Amino acid sequence: MLISLGGTIAMTPNAGGGVAPALSADELLAAVPGPADLDVVVQTTDFRRLPGASLGFDDLVAVMTLIREQLAADIDGAVVVQGTDTIEETSYLLDLYHDGPQPVVVTGAMRNPTLAGPDGPANLLAAVQTAASPAARNLGCLVVLADEIHAARHVRKTHSTAGSTFQSPNGGPFGYLVEGQPRFVNRTTHRTTVPAPAAGRHPRIALLTVSLGDDGVLLDGIAGRVDGAVIGGFGVGHVPRQLVPALSDLADKIPVILASRTGAGSVLTSTYGFPGSERDLLSRGLISAGFLDPLKARILLRSLLAADADRKTISAAFAIAGDYADPEDWPWAESLNAKTEGVARA
Ligand code: ASP
Repeated sequence: MLISLGGTIAMTPNAGGGVAPALSADELLAAVPGPADLDVVVQTTDFRRLPGASLGFDDLVAVMTLIREQLAADIDGAVVVQGTDTIEETSYLLDLYHDGPQPVVVTGAMRNPTLAGPDGPANLLAAVQTAASPAARNLGCLVVLADEIHAARHVRKTHSTAGSTFQSPNGGPFGYLVEGQPRFVNRTTHRTTVPAPAAGRHPRIALLTVSLGDDGVLLDGIAGRVDGAVIGGFGVGHVPRQLVPALSDLADKIPVILASRTGAGSVLTSTYGFPGSERDLLSRGLISAGFLDPLKARILLRSLLAADADRKTISAAFAIAGDYADPEDWPWAESLNAKTEGVARA
């Protein structure tokens, strides 16, 4: 199945100037020189025509519900087409909610259809080839662009315009499209799925990136107004010393996750010992994001709170999703292990 949400891949000139989402899923497919030669039947759904920036959690939960219904019928894989601006977040959300074996592949384009050499058709073809491949089963949600296959948990948008913008700084891509075939050179160590959101749960999670000379005005602004917070700290998980009392107070009241703003590597646990260091903050109740970057950490925290997870469950989940603890101890391990049977563990 192919679900279109909009994005640059679907944009055409707009009366007011610039380009905006307009093309349907069928029109996107018609621009691809290839699926007719594939032994694949593509069923299209026009779901949204939005820029990636305007997608919200409700849109994605609705997409996941649709995918679940269809995968329970006779669909072998799903492709979600959307704006690249939010793919690193939406794909991880889909990954957390998708517990079936079928591939769910997210793609988009960096060059809109009015430009010379738009990348949308090639990306869409590669995404369909991946979603249709038995080799892509049991890998959760994948992101496919520029003939690279990335794990949703690791992928980041790293450049504002380059076609090769999607990178997985922690570990590299899962694989590549070669002569139209997905070839995997890495495998997942684990899949981490969470229960669907409890009815009416819309937790609000702040993401706050600290910066030089930060005086805490933003931190003060979120106190009492959010259900959880992610701090994008300096380097291995540091903040200016003047933020420590407020952060400590906040962590007494709501889950506060400590991630690194650097974009690669993990938060440390036991190296630095000054006010505002990772040791100091973790001892005050902040929870390490491990290798998860701040954007992924926010998606995970939101999903955990939407599933009514308590503080202990949240800590356990972050230790595993952040690659600091044994995947066997994932809080919802039963369903996970059943669904990933046969997956090679690296
Ligand atoms: N601004 C666009 C969007 O996310 C960028 C893209 O699709 O590449 O909708």
